[in-house]
Amino acid sequence: MQRIYLDHAATTPMDNAVIEAMTTLMKDDNGNPSSIHHHGRKSRIAVEEARKVVANTINVSTGEIFFTSSATEANNAILHGSVTGLGVKHIISSPIEHPCVLRTLECFEEKYGTKITMLNVDANGNVDYNQLEKLLADNDTDKKLVSLMHVNNELGAMLDIERVSQLCQSHGALFHSDTVQSVGKFELDFDKTKLNFACGSAHKFNGPMGVGFMYVNADSMIPALITGGKQERNMRAGTENIYGIAGLAKALEIANQEREARSNEINSLRQEFINQLQLDKVDIKVIGNTNELQHPGILNLSFPPNKKTQLMMMNLDIAGISSSSGSACSSGAMNQSHVLQAVGADPNRIAVRFSFSHLNNQDEITRVTDVIHDMLT
Ligand code: PLP
Repeated sequence: MQRIYLDHAATTPMDNAVIEAMTTLMKDDNGNPSSIHHHGRKSRIAVEEARKVVANTINVSTGEIFFTSSATEANNAILHGSVTGLGVKHIISSPIEHPCVLRTLECFEEKYGTKITMLNVDANGNVDYNQLEKLLADNDTDKKLVSLMHVNNELGAMLDIERVSQLCQSHGALFHSDTVQSVGKFELDFDKTKLNFACGSAHKFNGPMGVGFMYVNADSMIPALITGGKQERNMRAGTENIYGIAGLAKALEIANQEREARSNEINSLRQEFINQLQLDKVDIKVIGNTNELQHPGILNLSFPPNKKTQLMMMNLDIAGISSSSGSACSSGAMNQSHVLQAVGADPNRIAVRFSFSHLNNQDEITRVTDVIHDMLT
């Protein structure tokens, strides 16, 4: 049985060209990129070439890109650094952020005395822009940071990043967007859409796991989270993961070239998936996803509880389908994820996230929808 992978929001398979670029570099005689001799310079060139690819992708300067071990690390560095280095006293975020933002912010009040405000979100995963505007217009003198993700990884709901950027600019607030799910998928131009901080993770766009980057605007440089050597211009100590960095750049180069074709393909797969499910005839509901701004590759569906859907993830897995659950297992009990809770999804229904990529095809969609229909009978 050929397995079907529909969990691309969790991680993506590596492109062959990425594996080739990484293994070529691994077999080469590279030195430490901090060494000034021939071998070190070769590694340095690989890192700097990769930095150019990332900077060009989001239209910023190379001096504003810093490689990290992950987007989790990047988000941690940005949040801590904006408080310890830039005097941020009030952070405005939302309850549907990734845990690497939410869990990080949990300790800020106690540790730094930072005020944290969570915006309201509606059933589609849209933040309350009017509430944000009111908070920003507040006459207090607290320096503010707005931290809102661009694409929600569970729902695919997209932030109106331009609107938030304008609001932050007009009220003098800093703006951080977790852009993990949009880098390599959407056109991003941070010269046009001004923000202070963003990040990316290679494994979300067919690159290797364990390597990411952060964008830090030249006017809002922050202190390093990880200290030690002078790597990454003192912004992130530790010998660079040159193979991962080269793989990240190769994957991003390919994603940029193929972006439009991939996006068209994903759009038609999504449409086919919805058509074949015949949502109007069965008791399957789309959670969120009715927005104009929507990542086409992420579809969260909820199903009525029955014998088969109660164990839906396991049954899909047995049928050869890898997808993702909308629940988190805590102390042996299945709880709704924090995102589904925040958007008010019915806790009595079974939620599953299907996330597509250009690597899926129409036959797979037919097989999956057949399996789903069978579970409802
Ligand atoms: N932010 C979002 C929106 C994500 O989807 C993820 C990964 O699931 C992360 C951050 C964390 O990225 P990484 O795996 O590089 O730590």
